[in-house]
Amino acid sequence: MIRVDQNYIDGQFVPVTGEEIVDIVNPADETVIGQAQLASREDARRAIEAAARAQPRFARSTVAERIALLERLQAAMLAHADVLRESSILEYGGPLARSQWVANYASQCFGDVVRTLANYAFERPAGLDGVSTRRMVPVGVSGLFAPWNAAAGTIASKLAAAIAAGCASVVKPSELSPWQAHLITRAIHDADLPAGVVNVVTGRGADVGAEIGTHPAVAKLSFTGSTPTGRLIARGAADTMKRVSLALTGKSASVLLDDADLRAAIPLALGAAFMNSGQACVAGTRLLVPRSRMDEVVALVGTAVNAMRVGDPRDPATTIGPMVNRAQFERIQHFIRRGLAQGATLVAGGEGRPEGLTHGWFVRPTVFADVRNDMDIAREEIFGPVLSILPVDSDEDAIAIANDSIYGLQGYVFSSDVARARRVAERLDTGTVLINRVAPDLLAPFGGVKQSGLGREFGAMGLEAFLEPRTITVA
Ligand code: NAD
Repeated sequence: MIRVDQNYIDGQFVPVTGEEIVDIVNPADETVIGQAQLASREDARRAIEAAARAQPRFARSTVAERIALLERLQAAMLAHADVLRESSILEYGGPLARSQWVANYASQCFGDVVRTLANYAFERPAGLDGVSTRRMVPVGVSGLFAPWNAAAGTIASKLAAAIAAGCASVVKPSELSPWQAHLITRAIHDADLPAGVVNVVTGRGADVGAEIGTHPAVAKLSFTGSTPTGRLIARGAADTMKRVSLALTGKSASVLLDDADLRAAIPLALGAAFMNSGQACVAGTRLLVPRSRMDEVVALVGTAVNAMRVGDPRDPATTIGPMVNRAQFERIQHFIRRGLAQGATLVAGGEGRPEGLTHGWFVRPTVFADVRNDMDIAREEIFGPVLSILPVDSDEDAIAIANDSIYGLQGYVFSSDVARARRVAERLDTGTVLINRVAPDLLAPFGGVKQSGLGREFGAMGLEAFLEPRTITVA
C-alpha cells in the first residue's frame, strides 16, 4: 500500500499535521492502492514562511547559478521518469503513451527554460536615450497550483519558470494526485536545491489553497485549473495585490476547411479531441465541418472512434483509459444524456461503460453530429472523450461559431492551404492556434483569452510571469 504523509518544507520531508486521510484509488479497477494524509493550513503557513526566508538570497542568485539548479532538476526528473510514468498510470489512469510523455516532459521543461534563460536580457535600456534602465527582478514568493489531469507536467513547468526567475515557491498539487506529487517532490529533493526554494504541500483547495492564495508573504500566484476556481483565486489575490497567472477551462474548436485532406486531418482532429482520454484543457471538442463534407467526415469519425480501444491504460494499444474518479464518470454520463435530450445525433458511443468492462471508471468515447452551438455539449467543458460535430456554411460561419464561446484557450485549423488556414487562425479568439498539428510548441507563449485565463506560460513570456520591471532613471 502506498502511504503519503509528508510535506516538503525547507528542504526536508516533514510529517503532515492535517488529519484528513483520503484513499488513493486505481481508477482502472476501483481498488484502493494507498492513502494520503492531507496537509493543513498550518502546514501551508510553514511552507510559506520557509519560502519567504529563502526568497531574499535566492533573488540575488546569478543566472549561472539558477541554470545549474535547473540542470540538476532536469537530470533528477529524468532519473524518476519511470516512477512518474507508473504513478500517472496507476493513480490517474493515464494511457501509457501519454503517461510516458508527461514523465519525459517533467524533465524536458527544465531544459526548455534553460534555453530561454540563457538568451534572456534581464537588463535593458528604457525611456529617453541613456537616462533609464529597466531591470527585470523576481516578483517574490510564488504559490503554484496544479490540477489533477497533468500533475507532473504542470508542477514541473511552473517550477521551472519560477526558479529561472529567482522566485522561491510553495507548490499546491491537487488532492486527487498526492502520489504523483510525492514522487515529483522526491525528484526535486534529489536535485539538492537551497533549502526553502521549493516547498510542497498537498491539501485541499478550500484550506491549503486558500491559505497560499491569500497569505501576505506570497507575491505571485500561478494557477492551472478550472475557471470557477480561477475566479476565487483572482478575488482572493486582490486584497494584497498578488500578481496572478491563470490557465483555465477550454472549449476548443477544430476548424476543418473544405479543402482539408481528410486522411491526414481526421486523425489529427481525433487526436485533439481524445488526447489524455479527453481530460485535457486543450481538447478540441467542437469539430466544425463544412456541410459539403459532412457525410464523409461523420463516416470517417464514426469508424475511427468505434475502433478506439478503451481499457487497461498500461496496454500500448489503449487510446482511452479510465476517467480519474466516479465524479468525472458521472459528469460525462450527464453530458451524454444532455446531448441526447437536446436533439444531437449519436454517431458513436453513448451512455454507460464500454461492453465487457464491468468496473473501473471507463466511459465510451462518444461522438455527436447535428450539434448546435447553443447545446450544453457545445458550450460547456465536459472533460472527457465526447466530441461534438457542428455543421458550418463557410469560413466566416466557422470563425463565428468557433468564437461564440466564453472560453478561448486553443484552436485548431485543418486545411491543404496553409495561407488560408492562417487567415482563419488570425481571426480565432484563442491564445493559441495550431494549424495541421496537435503537438504544441513548448517554447512559445501558451495561455487563454476570455474566461480561459490570464497571462502566458512557456518561453520568455512564461519567465516574465515571475518577473517585474524595476526602472532606474539617472539625472
Ligand atoms: P480545480 O479548479 O478543481 O482545481 C485546481 C487546483 O486548485 C487544485 O489543486 C485544487 O485543489 C485547487 N483549488 C480548489 N479550490 C481552491 C481554492 N478555493 N483556492 C485555491 N486553490 C484551490 O481544477 P481540476 O478539476 O483539478 O482540473 C481540471 C480543470 O483544469 C479543467 O477545467 C481544465 O480545463 C483545467 N486545466 C487547464 C489547463 C490550462 O493550461 N489552461 C491545464 C490543465 C487543466
